[in-house]
Amino acid sequence: MTFKVDGKDPGSRARTGTIETESGTVETPSYVIVGTRASVRGLEPGDLATTKTQMVISNTYHLWQGLGENLNEFPGLQDELGWKGVTMTDSGGFQVFSLGALRDEGKRRGGQESEVKGVVEVSNSGVTFSDPDYGGEPQYLDPELSIRIQEQLGADIVVALDEPSAPFHTEEYTRESLGRTHAWAMRAMQARTSDQALYAVVQGGAFEELRRESARTLGVLPFDGYAIGGTYGDAYGGTKEDTAKMVRWSTDHLPEDRPRHLFGVGELDDLIDGVEGGIDTFDCVIPTREGRHGRIWTHEGYYDVTRGSMADRHEPLEDGCACPACSAGATKAMVKELFLAKNPEGPRLAVLHNVWFFNTFMEEMRHAIRDGKLAEFRARAPKQLRK
Ligand SMILES: [Zn+2]
Repeated sequence: MTFKVDGKDPGSRARTGTIETESGTVETPSYVIVGTRASVRGLEPGDLATTKTQMVISNTYHLWQGLGENLNEFPGLQDELGWKGVTMTDSGGFQVFSLGALRDEGKRRGGQESEVKGVVEVSNSGVTFSDPDYGGEPQYLDPELSIRIQEQLGADIVVALDEPSAPFHTEEYTRESLGRTHAWAMRAMQARTSDQALYAVVQGGAFEELRRESARTLGVLPFDGYAIGGTYGDAYGGTKEDTAKMVRWSTDHLPEDRPRHLFGVGELDDLIDGVEGGIDTFDCVIPTREGRHGRIWTHEGYYDVTRGSMADRHEPLEDGCACPACSAGATKAMVKELFLAKNPEGPRLAVLHNVWFFNTFMEEMRHAIRDGKLAEFRARAPKQLRK
């Protein structure tokens, strides 16, 4: 994999660039579409190719658990997705740690009943856990195994196992955990036997010095790229401003000539904040998950196509939209009818539109950066950015 920066915004850290892999090229900044179990839920095989999608990320944890002993026969992400584009897998760590206290805290802060779903015990060598959704037996994951699984899955870009910091961790614990994340990143690098690109994950929680230390420590090592993890945002009681700060503390020290990915972030204002903070790629379930539930994203914000009266709305999901759904004649009235009838074509049309919309939004942001007009782009961006 190679990465070239080819444009910079004069007023921020935003840049445009190109990630080149054997599977193709990704123009950045770019959205990475989530295909959790090597398929994008709601879409049919072949749909991805029509949505301007440049990269897809799948979840190592769910594929590993779901495939079990069949992992060795896994044909590779591209074959499973039915799509010949650039692919990425995560390390599996976030899902493992989410089984324990990370999940508990997220629920508590979200005002929901607290529930620890599984057991997670971390040591310097790795993490032991049990997941009732996959049999509940004790299992073990470490940096070497994460790399071995990701090599079998065959994405272009893989990620070193890290310990995600959680918002309730003390500075002392976050520091201790950061030591593991750094040691595990080195072990992942040593364990790698393929020519897949390897990203390390910057952690450090909400502690400025630890974020900076993490980016400095990992930034001098020969990783192919960097991901920023544990920014936790809304779901864990943080704010978008906190996330933007954590990004800047990190990108201050990351090398300019390697791509930077921000995990799990993807509302429109987050994307602009992230790009202005120097992020090149983002992944988030918003376009697909919300599309499956009838939420339609547009340049004006979003609306729920299943709500309100749509019977007379014989217009496209968004005026002037050239997505595969709207350009084939999908209308608000029609999509609502399909949802009401529980016809899978309804969610499919909504997801097609949303994926196209987010990919187009990033394309427009790339043009704005190249034209030196990112500030104007922000001012013009949808007013209804937030939930
Ligand atoms: Zn559309």
